[in-house]
Amino acid sequence: MTTPFPQLPAGARIHSPKSRGSALGTAELLAELTARAGALGLSQLAVTSAAPLEQAATRWQEWLTHGHHGAMSYLSDGERADPRSLLPSAKSVICVAMPYATNSEFVPANRLAGKPPEAAQGQLAGYAQGRDYHPLLWNRLLALADILADLTGEAILARPCVDTAPLLERALAARAGLGFVGKNGLIIAPGGTSLLLLGELLVDFELPLGAAIKDRCGECTKCLDACPTAAFVGPYVLDAKRCISYLTIELQDAIPRELRAPIGTRVFGCDVCQTVCPFNSPSARARAGCAPELASTRDGLSLIGLLELGASRYRAVVRRTALRRVSRVQLARNAAVALGNLGDPQHTAALFRAALEHSSVLVREHAAWALGRLGAESELRTLCDSQQPEPVRVEACRSLAELLDRAAHAT
Ligand code: SF4
Ligand code: SF4
Repeated sequence: MTTPFPQLPAGARIHSPKSRGSALGTAELLAELTARAGALGLSQLAVTSAAPLEQAATRWQEWLTHGHHGAMSYLSDGERADPRSLLPSAKSVICVAMPYATNSEFVPANRLAGKPPEAAQGQLAGYAQGRDYHPLLWNRLLALADILADLTGEAILARPCVDTAPLLERALAARAGLGFVGKNGLIIAPGGTSLLLLGELLVDFELPLGAAIKDRCGECTKCLDACPTAAFVGPYVLDAKRCISYLTIELQDAIPRELRAPIGTRVFGCDVCQTVCPFNSPSARARAGCAPELASTRDGLSLIGLLELGASRYRAVVRRTALRRVSRVQLARNAAVALGNLGDPQHTAALFRAALEHSSVLVREHAAWALGRLGAESELRTLCDSQQPEPVRVEACRSLAELLDRAAHAT
């Protein structure tokens, strides 16, 4: 009778050595692993134990209790503070980071005089300007597990995690000493930047552990002060419900009205609390570099194109990018808001068409709001009087009332 092969935890794999190992002491082993990780494009590597994160677990629970996670109910799933909930035999967590570039601060203002309506661009967060990093980082973590098996000469059971697994990855990276958590809640590497994509490799092997490093924000509050939607409750504490990343990527429903204007022309995420950070100065970014595969290929997308996105064009736009996380309707909704914020009357016709005809009532409602921002009184009157779905009619009438009120106060 054959013994059944024991079932491995989801996502875990055994990495068998291809050599007998290289009799290194633990410190040399870690140094060699770090050097080999660097050659793979993983600019930072630090190790922490697989023991649960106790303080971070308490802070996380408080954050959830306050409801700062909004509609992201999946964040309360799983034992995020305990790596062993993902790999019960884990002994160490190897935390890595891969730098990425962003052109966000270089996006020129949408100056449209003399240009066609399609020229208006919606901004993308830096990490979404190039290729999707998830498969790239995942494959590098697998390669790192192979390297560890070869260096030790032992079979390694490993489980890679790339931000989709329920794990408090920033808290783990901080405990490992990969960087410190800035007041914007992001990991800032010493001598580096916060423009980092984090990954973790859970392994059933004991490696020398790193130590947390001191927060170096000092008196600075630039990120807190610059946030367009005032999303920080205080240092280190984000109310995700107000964050533009949440509003444009996670939220499936209507964007709260009072938060639409500060979104500006961003259609996927936001980088403001990173671009203002002194640790992300141009010279620091130049030093940190960017994984060539993640180089920015586009910093924006045509807003009219997004508003009128069909199913096949949608697939082409999001293919192999982090934009896959949002639906066609979300992109069109975000484009309507951005066009409203751009305030250029040459977009009235496209927005009116969307308000009347888009297949999604959600998009039609946001297009009606945008028409109000453009001062499109006659179009709003048509939407108010017609047999529109309730949310569209209500939004059009409210926007019209505001428009008339502004006009009355201007005279
Ligand atoms: Fe604020 Fe943008 Fe940072 Fe979110 S990503 S906290 S909206 S600055
Ligand atoms: Fe810290 Fe200032 Fe950077 Fe915010 S902007 S993370 S406070 S250094």
